[in-house]
Amino acid sequence: MIDLRSDTVTKPTPEMLSSMIQIPLLLGVGDDVYGEDETVIKLQELLAEMFGMEAGLFCPSGTMTNQIAIKVHTQPGDELICSDNSHVYKYEGGGIASNSGVQAKIIQGDRGRITAKQIEESINAEDVHFPTTRLVCLENTSNRGGGSIYDFDELKNIRKLCTEKKLSLHLDGARIFNALIESDYSAKDIGENFDSISVCLSKGLGAPIGSVLLGTKEFIYKAKRVRKVFGGGMRQGGFIAAAGIYALQNNIERLKDDHSHAKKVAAVLKQKSFIKEMLPVETNIIIFTIITAEKANHFQEYLKQQNILCGKVSATQMRFVFHLDITEAMVDEVIEEIEKYN
Ligand SMILES: *Cc1c(COP(=O)(O)O)cnc(C)c1O
Repeated sequence: MIDLRSDTVTKPTPEMLSSMIQIPLLLGVGDDVYGEDETVIKLQELLAEMFGMEAGLFCPSGTMTNQIAIKVHTQPGDELICSDNSHVYKYEGGGIASNSGVQAKIIQGDRGRITAKQIEESINAEDVHFPTTRLVCLENTSNRGGGSIYDFDELKNIRKLCTEKKLSLHLDGARIFNALIESDYSAKDIGENFDSISVCLSKGLGAPIGSVLLGTKEFIYKAKRVRKVFGGGMRQGGFIAAAGIYALQNNIERLKDDHSHAKKVAAVLKQKSFIKEMLPVETNIIIFTIITAEKANHFQEYLKQQNILCGKVSATQMRFVFHLDITEAMVDEVIEEIEKYN
């Protein structure tokens, strides 16, 4: 099976599995709710150091790290600003409202990316009628934007605006390493410009479970309380945190392969007359629009019969996501099957 539905479907390699035993044996595990799991602590420190942040918090999912960040940054009745296509708004089950009692002011972005100017225009004036604007959430790369990457100058403009207007700035960095590997800014550049960052280990990095929330010591102290409330305090979490450590040490550079695989397949898809439109392919995601919903269903079904799974993001839009379980040979097979189909 060639599974292009998401980069979450990766399974640990034998090397990763063995590190999930070896690393905890070396560093030790313990009760992480008590803060006593040395392997979890190591993972948190590693990521915090990479991004130049003070502290980290290991959580079961990226939805949880985002939702914790939103809760720590806001009070009920506040408003946050994000793109209409953002994961926090679109794909987290209404958590902004139900977990934090916050509402979202959504901005129509350019492939999921919003600008400082748009944000400035969306900040509410100080007036009893209006919710208090408190937080801005960005996503880099943007999933629904087809893996689009933020320009660093725009990020700096947004940082400057948020500082001026006393807004917190959170990054949903589920795929931040996909952005970093393709751009001229570093993890530390990103860390300098955000108040909190969520990093997923279970996407392109290939770990089975886990995300880490980064921020100041004070922020992470509060986040730890919220994690407990959300039921995300884990005990001997080191066994899964170890997969994250392995992923950071081994699976960052190779993200380039996923990006070149995506570009290779995209070039073939572009030749097809049944494809009306395709978002520019910057990283590991291809999102394209098929001429009709029927044709989209038919193409998806055809691929499935060839043992190729892919996702639909709307009736006519399809998504291919490349990841470390997709080999060069699989890419060639996908291309071959696409070429046969009309
Ligand atoms: C996958 C993803 C998340 C988190 O997803 P979980 O499945 O909860 O780990 C957050 N943001 C974006 C943009 C994502 O793609």
